[in-house]
This record gives sequence, structure tokens and C-alpha cells, in this order.
Amino acid sequence: MSDTGRIPFLNLADVHRELEAELLPIFQKALRTAGFVGGPSVEVFEREFAAFCDTAYCVGLGSGTDAVRFALMASGVEPGDVVITVPHTFIATAEGISQAGARPDFVDIDERTYSMHPAKLRAYLERECYLERESGKPYHRRYRAPVTAVVPVHIYGQTADMDPILDVAREYNLMVIEDACQAHGAEYFSRAENRWRKAGSMGIAAAFSFYPGKNLGACGEAGAAVTSSEAVARKMRMLRDHGQSKKYYHDVEGYNGRLDSIQAGILSAKLRYLPEWNQKRRALAGRYDEMLATVPGVITPHTPEWSRAVYHLYVVRVKDRTGLQEHLSSARVDTGIHYPIPLHLQKAYAGYGYRPGDFPVTEKVAEEILSLPMYPQLTQTQLNRVVEQMSRFASARHSQTAPRQMPAASAL
Ligand SMILES: *Cc1c(COP(=O)(O)O)cnc(C)c1O
Repeated sequence: MSDTGRIPFLNLADVHRELEAELLPIFQKALRTAGFVGGPSVEVFEREFAAFCDTAYCVGLGSGTDAVRFALMASGVEPGDVVITVPHTFIATAEGISQAGARPDFVDIDERTYSMHPAKLRAYLERECYLERESGKPYHRRYRAPVTAVVPVHIYGQTADMDPILDVAREYNLMVIEDACQAHGAEYFSRAENRWRKAGSMGIAAAFSFYPGKNLGACGEAGAAVTSSEAVARKMRMLRDHGQSKKYYHDVEGYNGRLDSIQAGILSAKLRYLPEWNQKRRALAGRYDEMLATVPGVITPHTPEWSRAVYHLYVVRVKDRTGLQEHLSSARVDTGIHYPIPLHLQKAYAGYGYRPGDFPVTEKVAEEILSLPMYPQLTQTQLNRVVEQMSRFASARHSQTAPRQMPAASAL
């Protein structure tokens, strides 16, 4: 690996070159048996991934977006319901909600973890809703609709703080569907149960994406939903396959949302490497944390004691995000922003009538976040170069703009 070459934000070519000998026979077998949809490789992967997530069932799907949608529908979310999530996520979380026929609504995030703030979830239910007499379920005053589910997002590979979210959900009869699309293998220490729990095993159901850039990525589009409820699993199997209970017996109208056999075979092969890859990401994150501690003005990811994150992304915060990103780019270091526009301010959701200022923490964070290169194949030398360039930027800025008495922490 060259010391001066471009450091890509993501490097998907190297890992597939390493695995080529293992992956090619999977394609060949599919060609020779013409087994492209369904079949044993899908069932094998489903069993393996359910075991990996500590759940009883896994249903292979065509994408993470379908996984959010089918998980909600199968859990019992009905058209017209309100489903709460966060505005600091990829739009697919909200798309899954509206494609299930529900109205997405938002609560703000915690400024340190960037995931749903449990106290804000409670405040939303207390302020915006009243409890319906007979059912005891929260009813949104303005939308005149029941609030039936909450979708915490395990953003960047770290779970949301699930204990208090599950507490509020129990109190208000909400179903919890985890968006674990960035968190394959992440763990959460439940103080309530005094044990580590896997991302995806804490709600009624959870959505995973195997989009190529995710910690476990297919060579194409793929996703899955996991659950420990037999009934929810059965409904998701029907939804993905045109509502069939058996061939040509359509109990409900469904979708074409299946995981294909080639992707399933590839995912099984790659799943064996996932623990090692996640471990490498953790080691790299530890190294970034350590080295960036000496760079003034950089806020590194906050990892609470209840979290074992899998660092789908390594996201820092700085005041002059644009300046830093431009500097890194000219030093041939690629970066990303996840995500620059909060969902409530997206054009697609203009019809809902949200305004700037509605979710101030998300809005502030969106201006300051920068995702640094993070993948198992990132070398120590490359990582050192990223940090060195950040350091250079910080000291240049510091000597330029800061009066002598200013604390070093405000350099960026
Ligand atoms: C990737 C992702 C999705 C959607 O997954 P697709 O497989 O691309 O449909 C949903 N939610 C989050 C948080 C994601 O990062």
C-alpha cells in the first residue's frame, strides 16, 4: 500500500479480490443448478444470520428498506398509524415507515451518541399525545392518529440506548422495531437484564441491510429482517413473496421482496469473516480515538460503557467541517458526511411542514460531522496519514485565527 496514494473513503475492491476464489464457486453453482431465487442457500444463510443476531428467525429480503417496511407491517403497524424515529438517519428508515402506510414522525437525538434520546421520546408522548381510554394507547392530538411503533436507529454501528427506550415503549404500548442496518454484530449492555444483547434482538423485529458498503455487504442488493416471534417471521415470509402461504394461494397482497440465492451464498461466506472484520474496525477506531485525542477541536465518537460498537462509520465533529474536508481532500484523503441534511428538512418531506429549529441537536450535528475512512483493510500507515493531515489543519488554523489566550480546544 503506497504512502502517498489516495486514501479512499471505502475500499470494496480489495476485500473482494481477497475473497474471489471463495466467491466464484458460489456464482458457478448457481449457474449450473439454475437456482437463482429461494432454495437451500437462502435457508442456510437465514439460519446462520439468526444465530449471529441471537434471534429465532431471519427472513432474507431484497434490501434493508424492505426489511424496515416488512418488519413494521408484520409486527402490526397499520396504515394511518404514526411511527416515531429520528431525523438523523438515512432516508430509508422513514421510507420503510411510509411504505408500510404509516406517517413517520421524529424525536431528536442525544448529542453525544447521535441516536434517539430516550427522554425526548417520553416527552413527545407526554406532550403530543393523549392516552385513549379503552385501549390505553397513545393518540396523537394533531395528527388524530394512533402512535403504534418506534424505530430506534443503531447509527454508525452503535446501538441506541435501548433499556430506557424499551421502558417507554412498554409503558406506552409501542412496538419497537430496530433499524440495525448499520450495526451487524453491535452489542448493548442491558442494565435491566444484566447481560450483553445483540443489535437486532431487542425489539419485536429488526431490519438489516447488506448493501455492499455495510459491515456485512452482498455483491448487489440484499437485506434481512430478524425476529424471535414465529408469527412475525411467518408474516414477513408472506409479504416478501406476494402474500403467498403456498404457491399461488395469496392470503394477502404482498410484494416481490426476496433475497436471491447468489447473494445468500455470498453472505454466508462473508458472515464467517464478520467477527474478525468488526474486530479490525474496533481496533482502528481505538487507534483513531487515541491519536485524535491530541488534535485540538476534534470531537471523537462517544462510546458509553453499555456499548460495543462495530464502527460502520467513524464520525468526528469539528466546527470548520468544510475547511477540514477540503484540506483532507487536497491531501488525497476521502471523507463522507452521514448525513448532511436532516430528514425533516429534506425536500421529499416538505409536505409534512417541519421547519429549521424543530430538531436542533440533529441540525447542529449535521453541520459538524465528518466520516473518516473506516474499513477492515485500512492500514495503520493510512490511518496515521489521515490523523497527521487533521493535525496539520488544526495547527494551521490555530496559528491563523486564535488569539494567544484562546483555549486549544476551539482550534477547529
Ligand atoms: C443502508 C440503510 C438502510 C437501507 O438499506 P438498503 O439495503 O440500502 O435498502 C436503512 N437504514 C439505515 C440506517 C441504513 O444505513
